[in-house]
Amino acid sequence: VQSWGRPIGDIYQGQMSRRDISVTIDTVPPRINPVSRSVYLNQGGSALVIYRLSNDVKKHGVSVGEQDYPGYAPWEGKPDFGLCFFALAQDQKRNAPVKIWAEDEAGNRAKRGLSVRVRRKRFRKDRIRLSNRTVARLANKIPGPGQNVLPEDIKSFIWINEELRKENNHTIMQASEKTTPHQFWTGAFLRPRGKPMAGFGDRRTYVYKKKVVTKAIHLGIDLADVSQSKIKAGARGRVIFAKDTGIYGNCIIIDHGLGVASLYAHLSEMLINTGEVVERGQDIARSGASGLALGDHLHFSMLINGVFVNPTEWLDTHWIRDNVMLRYKNAGLKPPMDKEAPQAAAKK
Ligand SMILES: [Zn+2]
Repeated sequence: VQSWGRPIGDIYQGQMSRRDISVTIDTVPPRINPVSRSVYLNQGGSALVIYRLSNDVKKHGVSVGEQDYPGYAPWEGKPDFGLCFFALAQDQKRNAPVKIWAEDEAGNRAKRGLSVRVRRKRFRKDRIRLSNRTVARLANKIPGPGQNVLPEDIKSFIWINEELRKENNHTIMQASEKTTPHQFWTGAFLRPRGKPMAGFGDRRTYVYKKKVVTKAIHLGIDLADVSQSKIKAGARGRVIFAKDTGIYGNCIIIDHGLGVASLYAHLSEMLINTGEVVERGQDIARSGASGLALGDHLHFSMLINGVFVNPTEWLDTHWIRDNVMLRYKNAGLKPPMDKEAPQAAAKK
């Protein structure tokens, strides 16, 4: 390898230096062997896949169409076993290829198709009529774009529903990337209390003065209980986000490890701090109507690597058993649990 120093101004004229570096030319792509057989995926749903890799692999995961989900190798003494939680996003186009990928140090990338059975889902349609009074009430809670747009103007609502929503979702996506390479939880997530008010993937159309003015997709489930009811952590995890965030109002995100996170929004009060490890069922907040909400309710979301997924799977004991726990068992592996003392931290 030869290089010349760059002349700086006309003082330094450049000097030649020579270093010999031994380079291994590696053109052999890594090997991937899926351990999990066929995988079932609902539109908007989650999946876990386990695979074995040749030992030169540095990075791996699953890709669904254009979306990459990072994988982990969390088993001590078994560095060739990898896993990846991934999702079929609710807006994913039909027939997107699902592949396990692996990359070695030299950048050689291997891909291996995964046999998936996809169950398409038709999402609910919801028409929401906006009155002047509603628009004005919401305008009082969330600042609009300013710039000559009056807060009670429907343009302000449209901006909040489209631009601010996009920005908030980006913030959430970035926050949920701070994940632990181990699993904090076992079993199904705790079902939040309350009456279901809206579902995951609902296609919402907003009508103002008999015209469709804006649309949105609802990326969680809404549950209404008594006002300011106690909100509990769905599963063990670490709080990675607790902030007032636009349309979500006061919003908490808990990382459950391996890219899986839960989100709690419209809270009136947050009872925990970022960085804390919380136990399943621990009180973390009180419900409210902060952000883009008219009445007191909880908005509950689940995310995988920042992609919103249908939370109902995670609340379902059978789904967790068949799609997560049995997958570990069939691979002859234990759930790759985080080592921090399990129950000790909770009770103070
Ligand atoms: Zn909601």
